[in-house]
This record gives sequence, C-alpha cells and structure tokens, in this order.
Amino acid sequence: MTQMYGDARVTVFQETVSPLSVTQDIARAKTALDEDDAFLLMDLGMVLQRFELWTTTMPRVEPFYAVKCNSDPILMRVLADCGAGFDCASKKEIDLVLDNGLTSPDRIIYANPCKTRNYIKHALNRGVDMMTFDNEEELLKIRELHPNAKMVLRIAIGDPTATCQLNVKFGCDPVKEGEALLATAARLGVAVIGISFHVGSGCNDPTAFGTAIAHARRLFNDGIRLGHSMTLLDLGGGYPGYDNERISFPKIAAVINRALEEYFPETDDSVRIIAEPGRYFAAAPYSLTTNIIAKTKVPASRVTNDAADSDQEAYMYYMNDGVYGSFNCVFYDHVHPVGVPLFHESADDDDQCKTPALLWGPTCDGLDLVQPNFRVRRLVEGDWLYFKNMGAYTHAAGSEFNGFARPKLYYFIDQNAWMELLAKRLHNVAPFSDEDEKHSEGGCESGGYSSGFASDSDSN
Ligand SMILES: *Cc1c(COP(=O)(O)O)cnc(C)c1O
Repeated sequence: MTQMYGDARVTVFQETVSPLSVTQDIARAKTALDEDDAFLLMDLGMVLQRFELWTTTMPRVEPFYAVKCNSDPILMRVLADCGAGFDCASKKEIDLVLDNGLTSPDRIIYANPCKTRNYIKHALNRGVDMMTFDNEEELLKIRELHPNAKMVLRIAIGDPTATCQLNVKFGCDPVKEGEALLATAARLGVAVIGISFHVGSGCNDPTAFGTAIAHARRLFNDGIRLGHSMTLLDLGGGYPGYDNERISFPKIAAVINRALEEYFPETDDSVRIIAEPGRYFAAAPYSLTTNIIAKTKVPASRVTNDAADSDQEAYMYYMNDGVYGSFNCVFYDHVHPVGVPLFHESADDDDQCKTPALLWGPTCDGLDLVQPNFRVRRLVEGDWLYFKNMGAYTHAAGSEFNGFARPKLYYFIDQNAWMELLAKRLHNVAPFSDEDEKHSEGGCESGGYSSGFASDSDSN
C-alpha cells in the first residue's frame, strides 16, 4: 500500500520487512524494466526506533536534528513528528524547516558561530532567536542586527580522535576566553542564555562530553554572576550513526547522564538541555544500491600494488555512483564504504572464487575510487551492489559532476510503525499543521515502487 507523507510516496508493508529484501524487490523490478540507476532506500521506522532509543537513554536531553547531515525533507518530517527541534546553519536550512511547517522558530537553534550578516537579519525576520557565537565581532554584529537574539557561547572542547574535527574552526577557549566573552556580551547588552560545544563528528572518546559539561558548568556560574539568565546547555553532535567496536551510543549517553547528574542536577529545572545529533539519526535508515555499469580485467598487481600478483587476475568495476555523488563521504567523512553483491550467486560467493577488485565511480576522474583493493565474487555488468548506513553526509553534499544524476529515493515503513508515526504526528505537530501543504524546494526526488513502481513517471 502506498501512502503520501509530505511530498513523498511511502510504501507501507503489512508485515515487518528487512531493508535488504525491499532493496532486492526494487532492484528486480528495475532490472525487469531495463533500468539501472542507483537508488537510496529509506526506512522511516528506523528513524522512529532511533528516536525512541534517544529518549529512553537520555531522557533529559532534547534532540535538535542537525540539518546539514541530511536535509531530506522526509527524514526531517519524521523527526519533527517525533517532536525534534532543529539545528540550522544557514538561511536556506532555516527556511527548509519553517516553510515545511516542521516546527516553531523557538525550536530552532542557528548553530553557526560565524554568520552572514544577511542571514542574521533573515533569522530575525523569521523569529529565530537562539544562535551560537564564539567571538567578539559576532557579538557586535548581533547587537546591531538582531535585538531579540538569545546567544549561546560555543566552547572548543573536543575529542582529538574524532573522525571530523570541528574545534579547529569553531569554539572559544573555555578557560582563557569564555568568561571574557560572557563579560563582553553583558557590557554590550547582548543576552547570553547558555553554553554549547561539539566534541567532533564521529566522536570516539566519550570522556570528552564529561570534560565539556564540567567547563560548561563553570561558565554557567560566570554567566549568572555577570547577570545573564543562563538556561540552556547544548551538548552538540558527535553521537555514532551505528554502534561499532570502538564506540556506541549507550557508552556516550552513560558519560553524559553522569556528568549532567553531577553538574546540572535534575533538581535544578531552570536549565533546558538540548543536543544537535546529525549522523545519529541520518546514517542507519538509508541504504544505497548501485549498479555495475562496466568492468575490466587487469593483472592483480594493478589492484594490490604487489608485483608478485602480476600473473593472477583481478577486476576493475565501474558503478553509477561515486565520490562526486553519494560517496563524497569517502573524502569529507573519511568513510571506507563496503559494498556487497545484492544477490548471491551461491557457488561464486565461495571465498576461493573471489578475486581482488577496485571499485570506481562513473566519472572520468581517477580520484573517483570508492573501494580500493577488496575481494568480491566475479561481478557482471548489471549486478547490483548494496551499501548500508549511507544516510549521513552522503547525498547532502553530492553533486552531478560530469552529468551523473544523484540517486533517486524510495521510502518504506511497516504498518505498526506507520500507525505510531501518525499518532506522534497528531501529538507533536498539530500546532503547525496549517503549514503542512506548503511545498519545499530543492528536496529529494522520490518515487513509489512495488505496485506503483512500474508506472512511476516522475523519475528525473
Ligand atoms: C555538523 C554539526 C552537528 C552534527 O554533528 P554529528 O556528528 O553528525 O552529530 C551538530 N552541531 C553542529 C554545530 C554541527 O556543525
């Protein structure tokens, strides 16, 4: 059964189905139609599950989803229906949230410490008051342009082993500069309401959160002494998109809960605690499936860089999405994608039948290498490759360089989760529902499939 959700068609399954089996159905249908374009599949139910996990594990912390991670309007709508706020960093991101009626302006934090003057005026016009800063010049701009601003001081405390360092760019020194900036704001008459930080995206060391919360407490005290009404603690992002051997969400949550208990005890209900998770919500619900469009047989030495392999065979495969598209995460997010054949050809999947391979994207650039030196069964043109956890920092920064279209999106959910989503929507979003019919610009393309798929004519 297909339902409309926002601007997208969502396939609702009576039973619980796995993303893999849904992907196989779509791929079979495409192959039957002689179509081979790469596609993303999104499981809306997985977003609900991650939201539930968040609220049960860190009940005191309200998530404000970081839009830059993946601005798919459907993902954002599910999060809004669950009651999330939003972290926006630009004019367009603010408009994407408000024009779609996802939440009210007081549930948006403009979390970019260095803002364009025009964007500050835009925030004022749209009623977005919560904003971060980490320097004096920004305070002068704010005093001039945004009389209603409620500023949040961003401090630089991080995990130096995080995948993406953010503190090299933003955040003041919490010890040497924090108090002085709070004092400057007080002198300028700019209201400061709290402290924020971001330990780094892809955090591997949960103790960074504990350290940052301790610094925040000290600066809260400074702020109160200077006459600011300190009411907001913002824990930023950094939570994993899926648990791995090094880090898990519960590990981080345990550190945070303990530090909150120590420095911001629940008895003090004057402090609102928020966080800005991005990949935590966006990564796991999406899988990407690409098609092998060509292959070349080469001496294995060309793949392994070992001259001793020159008399063995290897293959270079070319697929229809690459580092200029969804796999920009290889460069920007330091990801090592692992594609697996969507369909198993039993005998061929035997380890002995696997050969060394390189996996390339479709552009003419030699930089467009997605998976270096791995082993896979012999693939043929038309084979599909399946990549899990492809929702965070992937198609958000993808381009159409060299004329290769971005993958189309399909959405599914099972019946139970669908009912749950509708119930949450009634509960959380009713106040904004008159905005619901407005349409967003620059969203993702979407299409139905299974029954609706064959007649789907809105693709590109
Ligand atoms: C990118 C970013 C986030 C999201 O980070 P994740 O690691 O994806 O959770 C949150 N807040 C700010 C200010 C960011 O720049």
